[in-house]
Amino acid sequence: MCVRAAGIGPGDLVITTPFSFVASSNALLFEGAIPVFVDIDPKTGNIDPELVADAAKNIEKYLPRKSKIENRKLKAILPVDVFGQPADMDAINAVAKEHGLAVIEDSCEALGATYKGKQAGTLGDFGVFAFYPNKQITTGEGGVIITNDDKAAHFMRALRNQGRAPGDTWLQHTHLGYNYRIDEMSAAMGASQMSRLDEILSKREQVAAWYEARLSDVAGVEIPFIESFTTRTSWFVYVIRFDKKINRDEMAKKLEARGIPVRPYFLPIHLQPYMVEKFGGREGDFPVTEDLGKRGLAIPFSGVMTEEQVDLVCNIIREEVMKS
Ligand SMILES: *Cc1c(COP(=O)(O)O)cnc(C)c1O
Repeated sequence: MCVRAAGIGPGDLVITTPFSFVASSNALLFEGAIPVFVDIDPKTGNIDPELVADAAKNIEKYLPRKSKIENRKLKAILPVDVFGQPADMDAINAVAKEHGLAVIEDSCEALGATYKGKQAGTLGDFGVFAFYPNKQITTGEGGVIITNDDKAAHFMRALRNQGRAPGDTWLQHTHLGYNYRIDEMSAAMGASQMSRLDEILSKREQVAAWYEARLSDVAGVEIPFIESFTTRTSWFVYVIRFDKKINRDEMAKKLEARGIPVRPYFLPIHLQPYMVEKFGGREGDFPVTEDLGKRGLAIPFSGVMTEEQVDLVCNIIREEVMKS
């Protein structure tokens, strides 16, 4: 809906990141827009603002290999706050301003995070949050959009409600709309968790701190890097990276075998089968994204983990890394 409200349509180009959950790019594809990927900052996994700036100037250089783009027009930038750490929004907004682009901030992983003291999701023209059960708070399914643009907000309210614009009666439909409503019961569940958000995030911060204290000195394991401009991380997942010499997939199997559930995070978007088919993405197109995609592993993480559980996970990781 943000993509629509930003006036992005078929053939329009949007600069975004291949290191994300697929939904950030799919939102563009469903509107016929084309994700133009740029690589990421190796420290944080967030979109690299220098590459965003270069792509805005020299978009031809960054177009997907296999795309028939007729009247291509660059319309927007779609950064993602990866793993709960805000993207470098000042730098991204500066590029957007210079080139007249909209900014849609995918803050689905960063509810409550702050960037230079400001809330993630409030920094672009639109911010999006999601409440699937793996997120910091959940309504089962659904999400929230943030914008200061009243006209866009009215339009999106209509779109989510079968096209009924504000003022339309039950059977009047100004727009072709969807049923994207969140139901009342789920919304109530979300509202109640929102009132405890600080407590929820603080517990997750505590678990992240326990991990950091135990894993920062394990040779072969890198812990998450937090930028100085990240004034609060909203820990979504805890992703460690193994040294290039350690085979991440083998390590994942060993950890699983010892009862530690783990997940690779993320498999790059440009290498997902449907993306390869549509745009001809190849291994080597985005080396930093691919490298992090190969070395990153999300380890057990939630706000209800105890220090003993963190100890157990860390001891097993330490043992397996030492053996490898
Ligand atoms: C969770 C998430 C979404 C939204 O996914 P849903 O399945 O619609 O809840 C979008 N972008 C990112 C980066 C996410 O992590």
